[in-house]
Order: sequence, then C-alpha cells, then structure tokens
Amino acid sequence: MPAPQCASCHKARAALRRPRSGQALCTTCFCASFEAEVLHTVVAGRLLPPGAVVAVGASGGKDSTVLAHVLRELAPHLGISLHLVAVDEGIGGYRDAALAAVRRQAARWELPLTVVAYAELFGGWTMDAVARSTAGSGRSRSCCTFCGVLRRRALEEGARRVGATHVVTGHNADDMAETVLMNFLRGDAGRLARGGGLGSPGEGGALPRCRPLQLASQKEVVLYAHFRRLDYFSEECVYAPEAFRGHARDLLKLLEAARPSAVLDLVHSAERLALAPAARPPPPGACSRCGALASRALCQACALLDGLNRGRPRLAIGKGRRGLDEEGPPGRRGSHSRPDPPLRSPSPASRDSSSPLGSDDDVGVRGRL
Ligand code: SF4
Ligand code: ZN
Repeated sequence: MPAPQCASCHKARAALRRPRSGQALCTTCFCASFEAEVLHTVVAGRLLPPGAVVAVGASGGKDSTVLAHVLRELAPHLGISLHLVAVDEGIGGYRDAALAAVRRQAARWELPLTVVAYAELFGGWTMDAVARSTAGSGRSRSCCTFCGVLRRRALEEGARRVGATHVVTGHNADDMAETVLMNFLRGDAGRLARGGGLGSPGEGGALPRCRPLQLASQKEVVLYAHFRRLDYFSEECVYAPEAFRGHARDLLKLLEAARPSAVLDLVHSAERLALAPAARPPPPGACSRCGALASRALCQACALLDGLNRGRPRLAIGKGRRGLDEEGPPGRRGSHSRPDPPLRSPSPASRDSSSPLGSDDDVGVRGRL
C-alpha cells in the first residue's frame, strides 16, 4: 500500500507517523514542526531572551546534537548567539570519541567550542580515577552520581569562561519522565517538589539553565537527527549500565506500551505536583569552600571531592548523609547533566541541589551540572 499523503503540505508522501499524534508527515513538514515546537517552548517559557549568549552543553550524543542544530536554526529568530561547551570527564575509550563528534559539529556549523576537563577543574580527578576509588569502597555503581555533580559544576564553569548568560542542556521528555520515576521510587519528595518547569532561573549567582527539548519525545529526537542526517556519537558510556536510571527506563517502556501518553503525563505531573511545605528542602546557603549554593556547609561537589581526596568516597554518598543517590545518565548517551529545578520553583533545594528533577543525570544528587 502506498504511503499516505502528508497531512500538512498535502503534496509529498508521508515519511512517518508522529509517535504521539499519529499524524502522517513528510520529512520536510516533520522537521519544520519539530523546530516550531522547540521555538514555541523557548518563547512561551521565556527561556532565552534576545541578546542571550547561550552555552550549549555538547556531549556529542543525539540529544545535544539535535539541540545545537535546532537552536542554530532558531538563533536568528530568537536573537541569541551560541557557544558549544563540552565536558571531558576523563573516561577512557568513550569520551575521546564523543568529543571528536562535538569538534566535527563545531567545525561544520561554524560554532565556537570550549572543552573543560574534570582533571583540570577538580585537582586531577578524572571519572576513571573516581571509578577506581569508588570500586574499592564497594560503591562503583555510584559513578553517575559523582559524575552528575561534577559535570554540572564543569558545565557551569565552562559557560562562565565563554561569557555565557544562559546554559541549555539536551534533556528530552523521556529523560525527564525517567527522573520523575526515579524520584518517586526514591521517595524524594523534595526533588519532586521542585522537579517541574523547563529549567532553573539561576538562583544564588548560578547561570539560568533550561531544557528546550523537554517536551520532545526521544523517538522524535532520533527521527529528527535521522532526517537531518546529523552526525552524532551513539555509543553508551562504559559506566552507564551500572546506573539506577536504567531500571527507571525499563519501567517507563512498559508503562508507555500500555499507555502511550505515559512519558508526557509524567513530565506534566511533575509540573503540577504540589507538595506540603515540609517536603520542600531547606533554604539554601553558600558553600564554605567555593561559595556555590549549598544546603550544608559544603556543596555537593566540594563534599564529594573532599571524600575522594580523603580516600573515603562514601562520605559523600549514602550512609548517614542524605544527598547523593544513584541516578545515571539521561538518555543512552545524551547530555549527562541533571535536570534543573523548575523555573517557577521559588525555593529550590540548595543550589548544590540543582539537579534534574532531579538530571542531567542522576541520582538524587543534590548538585547539578
Ligand atoms: Fe558520567 Fe554519563 Fe558516564 Fe554516568 S553515563 S559516568 S553521568 S558520562
Ligand atoms: Zn563548594
């Protein structure tokens, strides 16, 4: 049977049915619709004002690749300028290839690129070194927890270096729904309370962050990358299989099979959740070491590095200290930062608790990238 006609232009043959609506579209109309929806998300949410210098967290994966491509298309309409910022976590056999993809994108799209490395920022610690350290303490599954905190800090630092006024990450709707599920599974009312919205306004001196793809499904992100013939890195990080996020992803797939709207329902539920004041985290203060927002004496990143430097990584996660929980990378290889607290959340948990609804990746970490 021949493909139906495109429901939008009524001229070309349809190339796909949109996963959510079932609408049959040709490739041109699908890509135009996808870009228009991202534009609407940015404009309606007032995420990126004219004149903004936007640091795009670039991992080389599909989500950040699509985000950078779409924002580059929209930049003239929005009046913004873009700067790619990539984080080198120091993961042998993985990050080098992903960074090569980012460099190709920057060259092809003529966008400036800055790379910041954990080793340079965090006293020589790379993720491989952290993994070796935590493996010795029986906490090797916590790699993404550590990484989520450090990555958020590194992306913020990279954005400041290039004079950015805003930070964007490539989290899509599936990433956000996974985070909501993880927060439910952990019973993390505080993170659920601040989990909605499209980003964080930048309290305590942090740069405003947002996720323009938060309402786009992972399937459509993949379709857009395919139809635009985008070059991205598709291998999974060597530490990703250990992450708790994988279980939430499996559960979400089951839910979606029974209820196709499950992903967006979860995203919107996070926006609507109204929890009791007692469930909200305490007002943030400042880290006594680096000055970042923190709910304790030290922010998550400083506490984590402190534990690593003392050979006691468990100090920063787990026992006796509610804070870093295990999470994992959003998307198989998407940006690995955690989602930010909601733009409208008046008192999100500590800045050191900036995490996705907790993800850019994570874990119930209270600090975000
Ligand atoms: Fe870091 Fe992502 Fe790898 Fe986890 S999966 S260790 S968050 S790069
Ligand atoms: Zn600190």
